[in-house]
Amino acid sequence: MAIVREQDTIAAIATALSPSGIGIVRISGPEAFAVADRVFRKGKSSENKGVTNDAGAAESCNDGNADRGDGSGVSNYASHTVHYGYICDPKSGRAIDEVLMLVLKAPHTYTRVDTIEIDCHGGVLVTKRVLEAVLAAGARLAEPGEFTRRAYLNGRIDLSQAEAVAGIIGAKNELALKNSVRQLRGREREEITAIRSEILREIAQIEATLDDPEHLSFDGFDEVLTEQTEAQLRRIRKMIDTSEDGRKMSEGIRTVIVGRPNAGKSSLLNALLGEDRAIVTEIAGTTRDTLTEEVRMRGITLLLVDTAGIRATDDTVERIGVERAKQAAAEADLILWVVDSSAEMDENDHAILASCAGKPMIALLNKSDLPTVTDAAALRSVIEEITGGEKDQHVAADQEVAVNQNAAADQEAAADQNAAALHKATVTQNTAWAEPIGISAKQGLGLENLEERITSMFFAERIAADDECVITSERHKQALLAAEGSLLRVQDSMAVGMPEDFYTIDLTAAYEALGTILGEEPDEDVINMIFSEFCLGK
Ligand code: GDP
Repeated sequence: MAIVREQDTIAAIATALSPSGIGIVRISGPEAFAVADRVFRKGKSSENKGVTNDAGAAESCNDGNADRGDGSGVSNYASHTVHYGYICDPKSGRAIDEVLMLVLKAPHTYTRVDTIEIDCHGGVLVTKRVLEAVLAAGARLAEPGEFTRRAYLNGRIDLSQAEAVAGIIGAKNELALKNSVRQLRGREREEITAIRSEILREIAQIEATLDDPEHLSFDGFDEVLTEQTEAQLRRIRKMIDTSEDGRKMSEGIRTVIVGRPNAGKSSLLNALLGEDRAIVTEIAGTTRDTLTEEVRMRGITLLLVDTAGIRATDDTVERIGVERAKQAAAEADLILWVVDSSAEMDENDHAILASCAGKPMIALLNKSDLPTVTDAAALRSVIEEITGGEKDQHVAADQEVAVNQNAAADQEAAADQNAAALHKATVTQNTAWAEPIGISAKQGLGLENLEERITSMFFAERIAADDECVITSERHKQALLAAEGSLLRVQDSMAVGMPEDFYTIDLTAAYEALGTILGEEPDEDVINMIFSEFCLGK
């Protein structure tokens, strides 16, 4: 469905509503300059060093509208200039605040239409009053995300880039931020566009051949198309494969702390939650009394799941011991296993390890500030005893996969598979059977090492492939899966010898599915959903 480009002039407060240095009111639309003329009065040039101003302009709000038809109106200002003055109530004429006003002319603006930004003082009341004046002067209050929606509808950015803007604003950690910036700069669009143009060429070739059978032929076409769709499928799958990491990156790694009573779980929780980096969120609607707490580390975010269990003071509640460890093993991305290094390991430790074996787990030798009774070697021998040398089997199997793939004819496919095998091997090595990390939860020691371990365990591959686009959006993932399905149907059609015009149906479906990522065929419901999640003023 075509979407009508709205042409009215919108305004909103673009900064957070809390007392701060400056507040910004943004106006955008064909009437932006006329609205500004009704509320803005220039200040005196003597007060105005370094910003443009007409010599001798009045600061009084009763001096009449700026645009008196004598060339003094805002539309006559040069684009991308800053002007000092006052915002006045258009009705009473009284000054509301002393401001700097930015004049940004179309098309070189965020929305591609004329834009005014008013930098006023950042008080809640004064910012609201400036907005009210702007609205009284003829602008309409913008809906959440409406500026960015215009940027998209006016073709300045595609839909994936608009989503990247929301991603930047909502980024919880360095990695997620970096990825959103990459997406905004068009990394995902480039990849999607490249695949789409190949598909479009294939469709064109089929249609041309069907139209002109005397001069063109389908001889050898199936072989070429098979090869091309294979390559496209590899590129699409590579993106789909990043989506699991994308979720962990943007939402956080679902982490559960387990360990026998008194090992130091709640102390670790408190240490992690310290330093003002925790956001406590109650997750509503769950049947269990769960509490998820969010820990933002330098580069990553941990979602500490089921911390209510750890916090429970009732002695009869088993505090994330054996039973919970089993449950956690099924649900969590990561298990942090706390072992008391100042005591011998006991059957509780054994049982916990057994229930979590094979899961991404980090063993923490806690209480490193006390004399050591259980050291890394002791821990490893228990691990080997319980998991029966599981580590060696995993690594050996992975290496075998890598070798076999090397021998494969298709070098590119082999390279991809090798990377995946390597990644898997890294993860395997980094589970419980990797080197445990010594920490003192009580004294907050060793947490940096823990952060480094988690980052390399989950994102090493992502960090190495610096220009890769990681898929963080479920919408994009679904579109990629749809495109994959369509290309597979093209291959099926070839396999059963369908006529060539059948191929175009599925090629077109793949082309369109990929296009939805960029918002090529805008669907109003999808667009409304995406932009409603934006904050006001963006
Ligand atoms: P939980 O039952 O696993 O949650 O264990 P707690 O966090 O409640 O800790 C049990 C006891 O061990 C408490 O007295 C803590 O103060 C102590 N403790 C926890 N971590 C450390 C540590 O790193 N060093 C020392 N010396 N004591 C610790």
